[in-house]
This record gives sequence, C-alpha cells and structure tokens, in this order.
Amino acid sequence: MSSAALAPPRTLVGQTAAPGLVLGRIVELDERAAPVGLPPVVPLDEAIAEAVRQLRALRDVTDVTDDADAQRLIEFQIEFLGDPTLLEPARAALAAGADAATAWCRAIDAQIDDFAAADDDYFRHRVGDLRDMRERVIAVLTGGSVGALRLPPDAVLLADDLAPSRFLATDWRPGQAVLLRGSSPTAHVALLARARAVPMVVGLGDMVIEPGEWAIVDGGAGTVALAPDGAQRADFARRRACADDEQRREAAAAARVATTHAGERVQVMINVATLDELDGVDPAICDGIGLVRTELMFAAGPPDEATQLDFYRRLLAWAGGRPVVVRTLDAGGDKPMPGVTVDGETNPFLGVRGVRLSLAAPELFKVQLRALLRAAAAGALRIMVPMVTRPDELLQVRRLLAQATSELAAEGRPFASAPLGLMVEVPAVALSLEAFDADFASIGSNDLLQYTMAAARDNPAVSALADAAHPGFDALLRLAVKTAAARGLPLSLCGDLASRPAHVPRLLAAGLRSLSVPAAAVGAVKSAISEWR
Ligand code: PEP
Ligand code: MG
Repeated sequence: MSSAALAPPRTLVGQTAAPGLVLGRIVELDERAAPVGLPPVVPLDEAIAEAVRQLRALRDVTDVTDDADAQRLIEFQIEFLGDPTLLEPARAALAAGADAATAWCRAIDAQIDDFAAADDDYFRHRVGDLRDMRERVIAVLTGGSVGALRLPPDAVLLADDLAPSRFLATDWRPGQAVLLRGSSPTAHVALLARARAVPMVVGLGDMVIEPGEWAIVDGGAGTVALAPDGAQRADFARRRACADDEQRREAAAAARVATTHAGERVQVMINVATLDELDGVDPAICDGIGLVRTELMFAAGPPDEATQLDFYRRLLAWAGGRPVVVRTLDAGGDKPMPGVTVDGETNPFLGVRGVRLSLAAPELFKVQLRALLRAAAAGALRIMVPMVTRPDELLQVRRLLAQATSELAAEGRPFASAPLGLMVEVPAVALSLEAFDADFASIGSNDLLQYTMAAARDNPAVSALADAAHPGFDALLRLAVKTAAARGLPLSLCGDLASRPAHVPRLLAAGLRSLSVPAAAVGAVKSAISEWR
C-alpha cells in the first residue's frame, strides 16, 4: 500500500469555479518546470515565429468549432508574442550571452510576475495565458511539443494554474476534475471549465498533495476531501447517485413548457456570455435568450463591428426566431476593462460603469449599436441597457441609435430597428419605472440587491446581508412589477436570484412571470415553477 493511501483524511477549501462531484486520483502538473539548459534546436526568433504559426493554426481550427472565447484567448497570445516589452528583454539577454531558453524564460517570467502582481484582475487573469506561451516557445526551442494532457479517466489534475489553451487542447471526460492552487472563479480557465462542465476548484493556496492520492472534489462547494475514508466514500456514492437522479429529473423538466401548478405560463429564458455555453443546449428548452452579457467579448480589447456582428448573428441563428436580449457593454464595477474603465475610482460600483461609461465613450458605444442594428435584420434582437439611473440616459441611447441608423442607411447596409429596454439595477429606477421610455425591462437582481442592501456583491464578509427575503427588497420588487404591469411594460428578472429554485416562489409571488437563468439551471427552475401554488 502506498504512503498516499495511508494519509489521514483532510479537507481543503477553495473557491468554486465549476460545479460537479468527482472521486478520483491526484495527478500533478508542474507548469513552472523549465527545461532551461537543454540545447536549443532553433534560434529564439524562429521559435517565437513557429509558436505564432501554431497558435494561428489552432485559432483557425477553433474558429470552425464556433468557440469565440477560445479564439480570443489565442488572439491575445499571438499579439503578445509580438510585443516589444516581451521581446526586447529576451533579445538583450541573448546579446549578453544567455542561451535561447534562458533568455526566453527570463523575459516571459518577468512578464508573468508583473501580471501576477497587478492590482487589476484583468492582468492577473492573463497569467495562465502567459504561462501557456512560455511553455509553447520552450517546446519549440527544445524540439518538444505542447499538446493535450493525456490524463487517466479518474484524474483530478492539480496545478498552480492551467493555461487556457492547454485546457482547450485536452479531451476532458466525465469523472475528471481540476484543482488549482491559484487562479480565480472569473479567470478564463474557470469560464472554460464551466462551459465544458469540468468540475474545478481554484484558489486552494500553497499546499502539497501526494500524486496518486484519492480525492473527492465537490466543485459546487469548492471543497476537496483528500484520502477519503469509508464513510466519506459512502457519502460520495450516495450524493453522486442523487445528483445523477436529479440531473435526469431536471433534463425532463427542462424539456417541458414552464407552467405553475395552476397552469399559468411562465417564460423561462437563458443567460449567456459566450457561444460556448450553447454547445449541446437545445433551444427548445427556453423561450429565448434573456440576457447576453457582452463584456467577455471585450476582454482582449474592444472588438470591431464585424466581430460583434458575427457574435450577435450566431446567437440569433441558435435561437431560431426566439428573442435574444443583448445587453450593451456593462464595463466597470466588478467588470473592469483596461483602456475602457476609469482607473482609481474609490468605489467602482458607484462609479462610471454600464451606460454611464458607454455614454462617456460614444464612439466605442456606437460600434456596438451599429453591430446590434445590423444583426437585428437577422432575427428578434432586443437591446438592453445596463445600470440606467435616469430617464435621460435612455433617451441619449435612443439618440445614438438614431445616429447609427442614419449612418447605416447612408452606407446602404442592411439593418433593422430593435426594441430598447433597460435593466432595473438601481433602486431609484425600481421606484420610478413609470418615468422611463422603454420597450421592456429586466431586473438585474445581483446589482439591485447589492445597492438596496448596501452590501457589495464581491465581498463575502457582507454576503449574508444581501438577503433577497428582506421585506425592503421584496417591497421594491413588488413595486417594480406593479408599475410595469400598469404600463404594459414587459418585465423579466435575469439576476442570479432567478436561478435559485428556493427563491423562485418569492419571485412568482411578487408577480413576475418571466425569468432568465443559466442554461444549466432551466430544469431546476422549471420544476420550482411547476410546484408553485
Ligand atoms: C444583475 O446585476 O443582476 C445582472 C444580471 O447583471 P450582472 O450580474 O452582469 O451585473
Ligand atoms: Mg448588473
């Protein structure tokens, strides 16, 4: 029996990045290992050129599979491999007599350290991309190759971090999971893990786990039980069986039309941020897309009109005539965007975010509005504006839409008008919905709750205060529903609250009859709706 098998049970707690329950064995990946000192097979410049060629080839294949997110990650790497801030130090080290691998590692490691130490999440979340590039160039330099990880079927992969392209190259199977000492739930690799349903726990911190050790990974709880004993294994088997049953029940519920126990129809739409998330999702399970978050598309810098148009058209094609509500850029707050958002705000949640930022950068905003109007010619597209506070903000958006319309008409490009709606995220808006000239509205409960309860959504220390059952929040919700009904304004709710079955009765009781939730939650939410009396 190995020493790992004799290790006492212990439980590690990290952060949940992708849900799922797995029992498997630890396989350690050492991403920092550098073959420095191995004789280079090709000069550094050639190795970098070859790495770029490989990445372009990967991008082209990825394009075919409709994986827009993955494509952007690869684009970022291609661009960075041509960046003088990376190349000049490497060339200087070569000139000073270092061998190619050493020169490369020094230059890229300095960048990795800078990115890892950055205050801005945007840079920290790109550390995985930089490690990926590091490894790819080393592989070319030394005649090796970067490829898929070949993991045993029950592998629980343990790493400091995992490069997104390595994650993408790997053929993940049910029963496998990933544990990262670093990273965060909003890192690219976490996003990819959620989209591909690979359970993942991140932020586990520095710790040693013996390779081969058994582990029960609970991605949803963010926990890892190491060297589980008989009782823990029995508990796992019970929970796994329940989870499988539940999954089957939810799949059946997802396929049905959502009606309350009394037979009242409730609209259930889905929230998406990437095309990836639609892989394997049957459009018939939903009444359309109730929220497209467009921020991820901007992660590697503002995309051009053609890129945006392509994304919106693909969503409409998937929806097959069902409505698709695209939210305009909601940068700022918890979604900082280098080069776009304002640096140094003392309270970014109360600062220049959402429509405030879009109106402050009308040229950038207009690119998005033009792409939306052009896409609207291809389906039931609706435009939704985030973080609206005053009626005149919506009027300004209407004016910009009118300008974009005139431009497109003058250019002879096909376009169509689209209904314009607002997100109800600011309490003052929920209290005065009648004042807004909107075609529809959707409650962003994540923000509405944080602003109502004065409890930041990204601060676990106050998360208990963000209680949707609070009578103050309930009163606000009911008032918004009542105002919307009196005006005939279609109103939905697209915040996380809608995807929590325990809260669904509260939302229905407040009068809501339209919810938008992640695709994976449709079954559970429809079940909760059908049980509501
Ligand atoms: C919300 O605030 O509830 C919402 C849906 O928007 P986001 O979570 O993207 O801020
Ligand atoms: Mg919001």
